[in-house]
Amino acid sequence: MSREQGSLVVCEQCAMAHRWRPLGHGSIARCVRCEAVLGRGHRMSLTTILALTITATVVFLIGISSDVLVLELRGVATATTLPGAISASWEEGQEIVAAATAITALIAPALFLVLRLYVLVPLAAGRVPRGFATCVRVLHQAGRWNMIEVFTIGALLSLVRLAGLADAVPGPGLFALGGVMVLFAAIESAGLKHLWWHVQ
Ligand SMILES: [Zn+2]
Repeated sequence: MSREQGSLVVCEQCAMAHRWRPLGHGSIARCVRCEAVLGRGHRMSLTTILALTITATVVFLIGISSDVLVLELRGVATATTLPGAISASWEEGQEIVAAATAITALIAPALFLVLRLYVLVPLAAGRVPRGFATCVRVLHQAGRWNMIEVFTIGALLSLVRLAGLADAVPGPGLFALGGVMVLFAAIESAGLKHLWWHVQ
């Protein structure tokens, strides 16, 4: 992958600088020195990405407000949501786990969605939002910290481990978070560079 510096793209494998230009559908830009992939031309339009982002926002809200795990032990059922799991870990003295989960599964994905919507809605309407460049930079960072898949896979693993001890079933929240994971992968595959084409 590459890092953007103005209109230049620096290859992360060998640090060779290339001038950036928009790619056609299905084409791949490679480093001239080491052939590492610098970027891909994408078939998704701005409105498609906006639609995916709106869907991801709705599914994310369902994911964080619904039960992720439902446990039944000796006839007593307990269920937990993602924010519930974070506060339970905090109360049990696992502050680092709670903070890491809050950042990677709650704050970064929320920031990712809010900023994407803030940028995409005006762009789709033909306007450039205020603070566009800063938003794209923050989005790049939020994308790095967005690790909802770690929580989802962690919840699935605990489900398997708990299966022998208690009656554990995945809640609707876990299915929703799995859906968010797929939607994020689709949105992120379009990258951020395409946003600049609508501004220039
Ligand atoms: Zn290279």
